[in-house]
Amino acid sequence: MTILSFFTRASRAFNGYPASSKFLLLCTLSLSGGGVVAYSEAQVDASKTSVQVNEKDCKKKRVVVLGTGWAGISFLKDLDVSAYDVQVVSPRNYFAFTPLLPSVTCGTIEARSIVEPVRNIIKKRNGEIQFWEAECMKIDAANKKLFCRYTVENNLVGNDEFSLEYDYLVIAVGAQVNTFNTPGVLENCFFLKEVEDAQKIRRRVIDCFEKAVLPGLSEEERRINLHFVIVGGGPTGVEFAAELHDFVQEDLINLYPSVKDLVKITVIQSGDHILNMFDERISSFAEQKFRRDGIEVQTGSRVISVSDKEITMKLKAKGEICSVPHGLVVWSTGVETRPFVKDFMGQIGQANRRVLATDEWLRVKGCEDVYALGDCATINQRKVMEDIAAIFKAADKDNSGFLTVEEFKDVIDDILERYPQVEHYLKSKHLRDVTDLMKDSEGNYIDKVDIEGFKLALCQADSQVKNLPATAQVAAQQGAYLSKCFNRKYKWKDNPEGPRRFRGSGRHQFHPFQYKHLGQFAPLGGEQAAAELPGDWVSMGRSTQWLWYSVYASKQVSWRTRVLVVSDWTRRFIFGRDSSRI
Ligand code: FAD
Ligand code: MG
Repeated sequence: MTILSFFTRASRAFNGYPASSKFLLLCTLSLSGGGVVAYSEAQVDASKTSVQVNEKDCKKKRVVVLGTGWAGISFLKDLDVSAYDVQVVSPRNYFAFTPLLPSVTCGTIEARSIVEPVRNIIKKRNGEIQFWEAECMKIDAANKKLFCRYTVENNLVGNDEFSLEYDYLVIAVGAQVNTFNTPGVLENCFFLKEVEDAQKIRRRVIDCFEKAVLPGLSEEERRINLHFVIVGGGPTGVEFAAELHDFVQEDLINLYPSVKDLVKITVIQSGDHILNMFDERISSFAEQKFRRDGIEVQTGSRVISVSDKEITMKLKAKGEICSVPHGLVVWSTGVETRPFVKDFMGQIGQANRRVLATDEWLRVKGCEDVYALGDCATINQRKVMEDIAAIFKAADKDNSGFLTVEEFKDVIDDILERYPQVEHYLKSKHLRDVTDLMKDSEGNYIDKVDIEGFKLALCQADSQVKNLPATAQVAAQQGAYLSKCFNRKYKWKDNPEGPRRFRGSGRHQFHPFQYKHLGQFAPLGGEQAAAELPGDWVSMGRSTQWLWYSVYASKQVSWRTRVLVVSDWTRRFIFGRDSSRI
């Protein structure tokens, strides 16, 4: 490529987008630094050795953190490491920016651009965190002990197994791929959960193309090798399908022109629509875009088995079973609890639950001093109707057997904080405040209620309790919240800040965790994206893709990865993606 054509192409790429979008990107890149950089580039005190740290830490309470994903790293980011002896166990010695994993599958972004070594993060925290690259195999809740194992296969000398004692345990181990016990999935499908998974897919896509152009294959064989199937029409599956389509159209058909008409991408979804967790407008925009792009969306189909040659599914509407040959199947249908967490749940009386349950302060139910956050746990929001009599008794200060408007108003802030579903209920019914709830059985407004009236007012609020989604956004907010609680654990002991305890006396020590939804993106390929923004805003098209670039550049955990990601995008704009099979 001549220098002239290089600049022509670069400038065409840049000029093809609206000015507002480019401005947004440039602003974000220049402004995003300070506030959003997760780790300050603080100087390291080189004189501090790990031995000194160990001696000093003996007197401190030991916090063991399991996992270096979104939840674990966000917890470590703000934790006052001088107040605790902090030890981290994870089989991955890096943090991975998972929202950009689909871009790694096609080489839009290189794998190393989206990871930050844990040791870098520790260095920036003055080395006051100890990290062990190992997997926790078992939690012994009764003795506050963990059993861990170094899991990298090699011939290095020394024991692979060790145990650790903890005062506080923070479980942030995420979840594992759920195959729903579908035969053949583990053996024959690719997944998109870890960085290695994305690298494997990248190699396989190139394998499929190289095999398809070998001499001596029939057209049908070439076609089968170039049939890419994605199981699961959620955000990850859809984004991968879009990335793959771009890779094929923008790069591969120019490199493998003889097979350009034989490529097929199919998305199999068991529900009626893809992206069904998004607003309907986004889901239909995505379906229309995929139709135009020639990506086949097969809804209402449940995969029943996968072999190395074929994928077999049941079409729900007709009850028919059909099999299609494939070159690659990517399985992206959801996650489930890791086995060692299941074992722990058995020890603490949560055996019959699907996911580890915590209270609103992220404390694991049925176990002291253990916290769980991110994809491995779910908050079991307390129902307001479980406490209704206690709330009434506490609010009825004059023991009259009635709550007046004043008495109700006196406790409402505590009710709204302790039971956020009440606020969602008020919003969903377009009620201004609690006085709108004070009605008799005929619906007339009244100025005081008895216990039955009080129950009637709040009886539907619990229907608004919703589980938080398994997203990086939730995990990161939970990590940040928990570190704040840990930082104030001892300082604030006599000065509780949380809502009033209706069943006991006094107040809770901390505010319960509250999730703030900042919006959600769905990149759809061809420089188009859809986004659900706070306040029920929906945005779709090219400018949304630029917003996506800006947000993901700003959310990087270090300047190093930010520079790498932006330069990968620039490289792709200018030179296209690399198709080497490395
Ligand atoms: P993880 O980030 O999975 O981290 C778990 C950590 O625990 C890892 O470090 C792991 O090595 C470690 N671990 C595992 N087993 C053990 C063990 N036995 N002992 C100790 N440590 C262990 N969310 C969004 O909000 N927006 C997006 O755009 C988005 N895109 C995504 C795209 C893809 C391809 C994927 C896979 C996910 C995406 N998500 C997105 C979801 C998001 O990645 C998860 O919700 C998030 O990673 C959950 O954080 P976590 O800390 O709970 O778990
Ligand atoms: Mg009263």
